[in-house]
Amino acid sequence: MIIVIKKGLKPENIQEVLLKIKDLGASPHIVEGREQMTVSVLGKTEKISLKDFEVFPEIESVMRVSKPFKLASLAAKPNGSTFNIKGVMFGPGHFNIMAGPCSVESEDQTLRIAHAVKKAGATIIRGGAFKPRSSPYSFQGMGLEGLKILQKASRETGLPIISEAMDLEGLRMMMDYVDIIQIGARNMQNFALLKELGKIDKPILLKRGMSATVEEWLMSAEYILAGGNDKVILCERGIRTFDTQFSRNTLDLNVVPILKGLTHLPVVVDPSHGTGFRHLVAPMSLAGMASGADSLIIEVHDKPEEALSDGPQALLPSDFEALMKKLVQMGEIMGRKVQTEILDKKAS
Ligand code: PEP
Ligand code: MN
Repeated sequence: MIIVIKKGLKPENIQEVLLKIKDLGASPHIVEGREQMTVSVLGKTEKISLKDFEVFPEIESVMRVSKPFKLASLAAKPNGSTFNIKGVMFGPGHFNIMAGPCSVESEDQTLRIAHAVKKAGATIIRGGAFKPRSSPYSFQGMGLEGLKILQKASRETGLPIISEAMDLEGLRMMMDYVDIIQIGARNMQNFALLKELGKIDKPILLKRGMSATVEEWLMSAEYILAGGNDKVILCERGIRTFDTQFSRNTLDLNVVPILKGLTHLPVVVDPSHGTGFRHLVAPMSLAGMASGADSLIIEVHDKPEEALSDGPQALLPSDFEALMKKLVQMGEIMGRKVQTEILDKKAS
């Protein structure tokens, strides 16, 4: 159940509403929006109806949401969520591009690529310090040293950082370095980790599990939201495919308009992991924007043949620059202003 409250309800009345919900045997979760406050009511909601709150004219509606995801549902925020992450906007009317290497491999490599993607108009730098690799013998990431390198790249370029946390230990380490925590496909249903993410005050980019249904994915987002962290961004990164001869995964672009009809959370498309091959990244980036995504996350490497992970799918900086120009042009046609500069330094 979702209760929508217009601005203006006094704090003591909000407390009264919350107490009433608890008295009726359910548990309320407040989500503060700019225009309205939403209370998601979980548990026993059968006895609750709009009549219980008639005395408060600010209470606009009481909706029964039959879907298992409540806080993530579009009904909870029909206008969509908007986040300002250190001057980078996510949400309706905005479009931004995150870019960088798959892995932080050295200071030199990361700084070079960070400057290149910034010059081309990316507004967030990506790079893994903790890498989820299929083989224990593959490069596992630089760990804390990698986070320090990302911090240096961010200080030099002004770009906020997105990087993946694979476990609680890594998450704790990242709190002082990273602006957006990425949860990789392999951890989408790591419920212990999701519960911890609910308690922190940092935006989370939640990648879709390789074989996850839309509902499973949204339920994972719900874990984070129910824990009290309302800054969740979804990322489609391709799903398992039966034909891996020409693409690593099937980039499920159907899911973008599907999600837009189900949830208020921003949706990102990752054409790099979604395809696995450099020559597919530009066309699927444009298709991602056309499908209605809010942002793209793209792997870029200036020496992809030497990359320690995901070299075959990395764009060269020059290709990335050319793609950015096309995205800006396409954005104009679509009425989506592509953000190519950091707006301000305020996090929200
Ligand atoms: C990555 O972003 O480099 C990565 C490992 O992503 P995914 O979890 O989508 O495989
Ligand atoms: Mn990668």
